[in-house]
Amino acid sequence: MSAAAKIAVEGLEVTFKGSGKPVHAVQGVSFEVREGAAFGLVGESGSGKSTVLKAIAGLVAPGAGAIRIDGKPFGARRTPGERRAMQYVFQDPYGSLHPRQTVDRALREPLAIHRLADADARIADALAGVGLDARHRYRFPHQLSGGQRQRVAIARALILSPSILLLDEPTSALDVSVQAEILNLLARLRKERSLTMIFVSHDLAVVAHICETLAIMREGRIVERMPVGTLRTGQALEAYSRELIAASRGYVRAAAT
Ligand code: ADP
Ligand code: MG
Repeated sequence: MSAAAKIAVEGLEVTFKGSGKPVHAVQGVSFEVREGAAFGLVGESGSGKSTVLKAIAGLVAPGAGAIRIDGKPFGARRTPGERRAMQYVFQDPYGSLHPRQTVDRALREPLAIHRLADADARIADALAGVGLDARHRYRFPHQLSGGQRQRVAIARALILSPSILLLDEPTSALDVSVQAEILNLLARLRKERSLTMIFVSHDLAVVAHICETLAIMREGRIVERMPVGTLRTGQALEAYSRELIAASRGYVRAAAT
């Protein structure tokens, strides 16, 4: 592992064993993300992107491999400090926000779990940080727009001042215009807070907007890593990558310039 890596994933393997045939969802995935960088994981549905992210977050147990943060192994059991350092935003804020909890309660919960003081001030700051204010604080999820709900989910992740933000299709459920707002917000927050990000998406244009480097996944493996500029030039090494890039061509060109 190079000295500068904030996140290092080495030889990650994840197999799901249910009643049927085991699914080897992640097969020997390795990559590194520098501190402050945004790394994209792209690929078709079912290629294993979410499973990689969940393994990094400690939500699924790898069968083999290692995850290191700042050089330190992060296993399945994590200290509160280790959990706090890494926060997760999902695609569907409806799924991650409790329908009968106000925004205030959703933001209060992580503060209580991690025993952080000054909850009222922290909640107000967290809302301001994502472009929401006191008007939104006592609303329920159904009283917010999709974009506002995703801002709440981002605020809840950032209220714990993590150094790493893991994003799983955070804009895929949103209209295109709202998508751009959320991507701009994430880009700004990343700079302001020196966040290191892993951004999972099936949408190359979205990844092009946020990330400097990306990896293309297929059937549980990384096919190729590349700088984001390769999405524009189309000069990927692997035929599969070139096909994937060609398929989303017009969109990517607009986003990567
Ligand atoms: P992606 O995020 O790229 O769409 P996933 O990581 O969600 O892909 O899934 C990778 C593979 O693992 C798929 O075949 C999926 O069906 C399978 N899978 C994901 N989660 C589970 C689970 N909890 N139990 C069994 N199989 C799973
Ligand atoms: Mg997924």
